[in-house]
Amino acid sequence: MTAKHPPEFAWKDGHLIAWDDCTVHVRSQAGFFGANVFEGVRGYWSDDREQLYLFRMDTHFERLALSMKVMRLEVGYTADDMLAGVIETIRANGFREHLQCNVVAHFGLNLDQDPLYPTSNTGVHITAIRFPRSPKTEAGIHACIPSWRRISDSTVPPRVKVGANYQNSRLAANEARINGYDMPIILNERGTIAEGPGSCLFMLREGRLHTPAVTDGILESITRDTLIVFARDILGIEVVERSIDRTELYAADEVLMCGSIAEVTPVISVDRLPVGRGTVGPVATALRDLYFRALIGDLPGYEHWLTPVYDAAALRR
Ligand code: PMP
Repeated sequence: MTAKHPPEFAWKDGHLIAWDDCTVHVRSQAGFFGANVFEGVRGYWSDDREQLYLFRMDTHFERLALSMKVMRLEVGYTADDMLAGVIETIRANGFREHLQCNVVAHFGLNLDQDPLYPTSNTGVHITAIRFPRSPKTEAGIHACIPSWRRISDSTVPPRVKVGANYQNSRLAANEARINGYDMPIILNERGTIAEGPGSCLFMLREGRLHTPAVTDGILESITRDTLIVFARDILGIEVVERSIDRTELYAADEVLMCGSIAEVTPVISVDRLPVGRGTVGPVATALRDLYFRALIGDLPGYEHWLTPVYDAAALRR
């Protein structure tokens, strides 16, 4: 997907529209301050089933509802309306490949008051783009601890998925990139591991998986929750949710990042120190393979997490 070949259709405030018409005003609170909340969802095409699947949409819309509640952002659309919008958008574009879709609720223009004052002028837009799987899920990545700290619940809560939060991610990601790393692993205000710019972390030590607690300055990741289920219920690995020190990553046998976009991405070095043997480990591989199977309906017992897009029932919830 390049800028020259964008998808044909997007969705805004209840209607399918041309991609180029899906805009917000530069003076809107969303356009100016990043005053929006959103979900980033992946769609997965299965050649075998000739079907495109969305993963854990109920949970995505629950998290969107929490983000809207915290930001006191109300829109005239229910979760079902927005899911129907997602399905309509994907169908209109005729996608038969992996994709990434954003559902965004935003604050619009408010010319009458102080531009920071919450406005009832709000809206929703939905866009989906072709999005192939990253080879980094196979090869692994080199990570660093950046000098930037993660935003915290007492300032800009990372639990809430607000567009403006990603300026913190951007600062850390820029630093990592400029210094030759693939990804930053950002410490929270207390100096323990929080998360990546758009992904959560797991570490394998002494046969147990550890992941920062939801109170450690993270987004409550749906992929993190999924991997906890797979580790405990399928692999029989104990999962501990607790604060993680930086040097524990140097001592770990395996580290991985997870998220809708990161999927399951093994970390093979941190601060140029190898993680374990410096190769992709067996637990990351097993979790990644389970996750990939679940996403296209190939993991028996977890089909209830999938919404098939090209299925009449998908629009009748
Ligand atoms: N942390 C941040 C900051 C993110 O943006 C994301 C991506 N949504 C994640 C973690 C992973 O969350 P999820 O697994 O729900 O995509």
